[in-house]
Order: sequence, then structure tokens, then C-alpha cells
Amino acid sequence: MATPSNAEPAPESTLPYPPVHKDKKFVVLSDWDGTITTRDSNDYMTDELGFGPEKRRQGNLDILSGKVTFRDAFHEMLDSVSGNGHSFEFCKEELKKNIKLDPGFKDFYQYCKEHDIPIVIISSGMEPIIRAVLSNLIGEEDSKDIEIVSNHVDIHADGTWSIKYRHPTSGFGHDKSQAILHYRELEHPPTIFFFGDGVSDMSAARHADVLYVKQKQGGDNDLAAFCTREGIPHILFEDFSHALRSVSAIVEGKTTTQEALAKGTA
Ligand SMILES: [Mg+2]
Repeated sequence: MATPSNAEPAPESTLPYPPVHKDKKFVVLSDWDGTITTRDSNDYMTDELGFGPEKRRQGNLDILSGKVTFRDAFHEMLDSVSGNGHSFEFCKEELKKNIKLDPGFKDFYQYCKEHDIPIVIISSGMEPIIRAVLSNLIGEEDSKDIEIVSNHVDIHADGTWSIKYRHPTSGFGHDKSQAILHYRELEHPPTIFFFGDGVSDMSAARHADVLYVKQKQGGDNDLAAFCTREGIPHILFEDFSHALRSVSAIVEGKTTTQEALAKGTA
């Protein structure tokens, strides 16, 4: 079966999780690629250094339609980058040069910091790349405040590399719902805001209290397409300055999560 279900038992994690943030009223869990950044770094690598945009796009459509799992299609995309002889270090440096931050993210981060709202990155990307690009974009100091729950990398003796999945038995590779479900087990669970944009967020979509889906002008809207098809309530946002308006209204009690979701745009 190509589309795994979240109803299955929790997949075993090969990588540790940071401790859950207890006694918080709100927690932000956010996808990294194409959500906090303007361009997806794995798409960038596949398009520019790997087998190119056409095969990559077809892979995403096949994931969306359930023809292949995210785990297998994404593995192939990244293998095409390593297969073209690009070292992991080279890719990291290329991405530091080319990946930009969402224009509203710094203010959003500041607001969350002032209001005691942790931000955790929930990504299907590889941790060393995310950490390097994040530090480069927001500075070493602020970057330390943001935890990353993602996949990792295996660098082989011959210098080639491949993605190391957090949940290798799950068709998602990293089943993002698990990060949310850990919060559900708390006695007083916080309100979870989840931000995403693409097929890698399909595993989390059903589980957030408030799901924000990034709108791409002239780009692919795979998560929006998935949520519409599956009838999952969500809020569309253009960038984090819009998201901040919506999140702050909820945090400050000016609107409820239900009202925000009923409105549907940030
Ligand atoms: Mg993404």
C-alpha cells in the first residue's frame, strides 16, 4: 500500500526526540523546507545538482496520488544528487549560498520568543544541512533556541551519501504526526500550530490543532491540494508576517482556533 495510514502503531524511531515542552500553552511545530525557507533545499539539490525538476515534480505528484511512498521517491531524488558526484559538504555550502528565509520569519520568531512559545522544526530534510542553513540565516545564537526533529544522513566510506530516515519502516520516512502525538500524551497538552507546504507534511496534516498551509504564488501547492481532497481544515498563509497576524490573534484571545480555521486564510 503506497499511502501509509497514521492509524498504524507508532513506527520505531532510529533517532532521538528532544524532550516535549511541558506546561506551555502553545507550541509551534513547523516544516522547514519551503515553509520557513522560500525554496525547498531538497528540491534545489534535485533540480540543480540531481536528476532535474521534471523527474522531481513527477515524483511529488506520484506521492500525492499514492503511487509511491514519500520515503522511496525522496530517497531516489537525493540519490540522484550524490550519484552525480556531489559531496554532502559541497551540497551544504551550495545551500548556504542559495536558500533564503521567509520574509516574515524573524518577526514571527521574535514574537514567539516574547510569548514563551517554543518553535520546533519538523522536517524530512537532513539535520546537518538544516542546522547549517538556519544558523547562516538567523545567526548562531537564535538558531540554538530552535530544535530540529528531522532525518539524518549516512556518509559512506567512498564519499557518497544517502538520507538516513528517522522512521525507516514508515512510508513517510519521517512520520511527522509522531512529534504532535507526543504532545497529546501530556496531562495539559498545548495548542499545536503546525506549518507546512508540501507532500512531506501529509503525515502531520490531520493531527495539528491549527494547520497552516503555505500558499505558493505560481508554485506547487501539494499540501493544500491534499487537505482539500481529504477535507482537512487548514489556514492558507502567504508568508510568516500573515501567519503572525493569525497566530497572535489566537494567542491573545482575540479569536478562537475554530474561528481562525473557519476563516481559512491568515
Ligand atoms: Mg516543505
